[in-house]
Amino acid sequence: MTVSRIDLADAATPEKLVLEIFRHEPDLKIPVPIEDLCRQLDIVDIMPLDTEGYEGGLITPADKFEGSILYNRLSPRRRRRFTIAHELAHFLMPSHMPSADGRFLCKMSDMLALQAGEADKRLRMEVEANRFAAHILMPAPFFRKDVAFGKDPNLNQLIKLADRYDVSKEAASRSYVRYRDEPVAIVIVHNGTVQRVYREQSKFPYLSTRQGAPVSAYSLLRRRKHEEGVASEIDQTDAGVWLDVQRGQRPPQLYEQVLAQREGYALIMLSIEPQIDEDEEDPEDDLTSAQRLKRRLSSR
Ligand SMILES: [Zn+2]
Repeated sequence: MTVSRIDLADAATPEKLVLEIFRHEPDLKIPVPIEDLCRQLDIVDIMPLDTEGYEGGLITPADKFEGSILYNRLSPRRRRRFTIAHELAHFLMPSHMPSADGRFLCKMSDMLALQAGEADKRLRMEVEANRFAAHILMPAPFFRKDVAFGKDPNLNQLIKLADRYDVSKEAASRSYVRYRDEPVAIVIVHNGTVQRVYREQSKFPYLSTRQGAPVSAYSLLRRRKHEEGVASEIDQTDAGVWLDVQRGQRPPQLYEQVLAQREGYALIMLSIEPQIDEDEEDPEDDLTSAQRLKRRLSSR
């Protein structure tokens, strides 16, 4: 690698940073060797964290001459990769300044932050660090291409993408709902209760089941038994199980797929059939989403 921090000096947003890194390292392979990249960019140490209750940390002087990244030794390797990328963002982003004792300390909730109010400067830094981590580990030009394969959204595809990019399924979920053509939402469930919901707000409607609420008994998760680690069939479900369906409105066709995981965790993928005019046959019906995308681009 040849990229240096001088090459990145003008990049002030997470997206610009990733763009510049790839401009200088066009041969960077997937999965991105995040630790090598850190060392190339003046991170001198990557080591386990001793302070309990934190997922990651960065030690760096105010002038950010160099830095050391800390990670939670108990976390799975793929989550650790995301943490390391997140801490690298704190190091590279010119606007991210360490506390008076020269540290950033980040909790698990910081690693999941996707939105912050204008006034919350600290949380905004966490959101930016997460954007950087997602973009550097799942670079848009690659991920967008990979996600377009397959006719329908599918958890088996999500599992493959998580393997290919060497990220957790949850991290892959956030990029999946963003880049997949169809409206998709992914619900993270623990012991039958909704923990987090990932959806692209412009494409997928609000879920009527809120964070902390139990999953409906009519959901595929609870209607059938699920084998751990094996994605279920894709099953049509009454839209009212997950969405607010207004009286007199035609409900969308909603599909569910479940992946039961260890220790009571589960992923539920919700997808909506794009509305089609019933009188008209859809000429794109038999195409894969990649083919559909190509068609649309070529007809512009
Ligand atoms: Zn952080």
